[in-house]
Amino acid sequence: MELNVVMLGPPGAGKGTQSARLARLWHIPHISTGAMLRDAVQSGSRLGLEVKAIMERGGLIDDEVITRVVQARLDRPDAANGFLLDGYPRTVPQGLALDAYCAGRSPLTVVEIVLSEEDVLRRLAARMICSECGKNSQDDQDYTNCVDCGGSLVPRADDAVDVVRKRLEVYHLQTAPLVEFYGARPTYCRVNGAQLADAVTEEILAAVKRIHGTPAR
Ligand code: AMP
Repeated sequence: MELNVVMLGPPGAGKGTQSARLARLWHIPHISTGAMLRDAVQSGSRLGLEVKAIMERGGLIDDEVITRVVQARLDRPDAANGFLLDGYPRTVPQGLALDAYCAGRSPLTVVEIVLSEEDVLRRLAARMICSECGKNSQDDQDYTNCVDCGGSLVPRADDAVDVVRKRLEVYHLQTAPLVEFYGARPTYCRVNGAQLADAVTEEILAAVKRIHGTPAR
């Protein structure tokens, strides 16, 4: 079955960590718009130059720009049998664009990871990413270097306290309305993000199994 997944939740809820695991389990591409944009900034491409300042201050990239980027990615053959979107949609117009793009495909499975604002702030203050490959270090590990490539771990630039405040405000205003947008669909589920990563994964797998009958392929 084609599994088309959208991960929702505030910054720091664990979307990236869970998405990487689930995409591996389900053999579908993990499409992280944040990672794609950070790559673009690092490579100095036209897109990167366009989005750098917006990302640094915690704002959102224009709906049409990011939608073009995502659709170009979803057009690639590896997404034909399913995909996992992490960080898109982030606004209701993006949600509408995704529905239109996916017309005729299997319905979206939407997983909301719930985390309180207090926990978000605590998590982001401690989050480290690899300066080389951009991967998040795991919450439950205490390495100074990336377990994948050995690069040194650094705080993420947009995890600075004032930028986090802005990103949370943007989340409440622009992204949280997607909970209502998707909430009534039979393929929507919510899980408790305030647990160890393994427990969150288990909860997601159980919820998706309830929705589709088959948890993984
Ligand atoms: P993330 O890694 O998902 O927290 O994304 C980092 C930053 O990339 C966000 O704060 C936004 O500036 C930008 N971004 C990522 N995804 C989107 C999106 N779907 N729409 C607009 N901006 C986005």
